[in-house]
Amino acid sequence: MLSEFRADLHCHTTCSDGSLSPLEIVQLAQKSGLSGLSITDHDNIDAYATAIPACLQANINLLTGVEFSSTLQDTSVHILAYGFHPENPFIRDFCARHLHRRSARNQGILNLLAKHGMPLTESDLTAATPSLPKAFGRPHIATAMLKKGYVASFQEAFQKFLAEDRPCYTPGIPFSVEESLETIHRANAVAIIAHPHLINNNEVLNVLLNMNFDGIECYYGKFQHDKHERWLKIAKKKNWLVTGGSDFHGINKPLIDLGCSWVDEARFNAIKAKAKG
Ligand code: AMP
Ligand code: ZN
Ligand code: FE
Ligand code: FE
Repeated sequence: MLSEFRADLHCHTTCSDGSLSPLEIVQLAQKSGLSGLSITDHDNIDAYATAIPACLQANINLLTGVEFSSTLQDTSVHILAYGFHPENPFIRDFCARHLHRRSARNQGILNLLAKHGMPLTESDLTAATPSLPKAFGRPHIATAMLKKGYVASFQEAFQKFLAEDRPCYTPGIPFSVEESLETIHRANAVAIIAHPHLINNNEVLNVLLNMNFDGIECYYGKFQHDKHERWLKIAKKKNWLVTGGSDFHGINKPLIDLGCSWVDEARFNAIKAKAKG
């Protein structure tokens, strides 16, 4: 009997805030018996230079992906894009602009931390995360705060200082959902609402559900059956693609295993067919 086709379409590498390198993720996917994979780093596609040849060798069906940060009505919205060509200029340019946005935003956060008596230098950051990516994020800052002894835990760094309503957070100048959708569609890729259950502003969720998305992430992390049902119903009603993945971050999210959420071959192929990238 053929083994079941499972594709995990949401995970992070050291190119954003995951703890495994792109090669290590592909090796783990193979070890975990996954047939399909998409790496969805925050705002960059740097993993693909390594992941494309590695997946070919490991016989894993790779779908290109990225998780773009955006904002709607001051609420953070993550948008997954799938199925672009890895050299696509619209995606590459958008990632480059995100890198600038992140650098400025990170400087803003570091300035606020210094004002609150918690200065962090570049070497503090690289000491805490030796593989610090170009487009580093708040989890790297939280790790450095922990290492410097400013907080007693990673969670405390977010709860007291870095979460969206906390004193050392600044959003910088975010990109809108509209601009993200336009870029993704120009690249002939599909645009998916990531982890909709994490959007706790209902008005924002309703606006998103009436925008020009192609699908919604219905299977997520360690979701139980009763949790994904709501999103599957919405996808069916709208004739949207159904996606799913673990949001694996390695040791940075220790309870989540690669492949703990996935889509089957029919759903995987439907995404590939709709993306013309
Ligand atoms: P950034 O993209 O730099 O704004 O960082 C966002 C990432 O930080 C998210 O993808 C999560 O992995 C992590 N994060 C956000 N809020 C929290 C929180 N309250 N506790 C722990 N991690 C968080
Ligand atoms: Zn992340
Ligand atoms: Fe996300
Ligand atoms: Fe994610």
